[in-house]
Amino acid sequence: MYCETCGKPLTENEHSVCRARQEINPPRFCGRCRRRMVVQITPTGWAARCGVHGERQSPATT
Ligand SMILES: [Zn+2]
Ligand SMILES: [Zn+2]
Repeated sequence: MYCETCGKPLTENEHSVCRARQEINPPRFCGRCRRRMVVQITPTGWAARCGVHGERQSPATT
């Protein structure tokens, strides 16, 4: 598993800053394969797509 913000392995170091960023920013890397995600901003938040693992959407805020 990789950090979706910095792309480094989750076991490698502390990712608390990354987690804080993830609350407001879309992920940049796929957590499973570390590929760069294609991010689109949507009216409700964001959609991030990995070429292998498909699309993820921002958590619903309502
Ligand atoms: Zn990180
Ligand atoms: Zn992936």
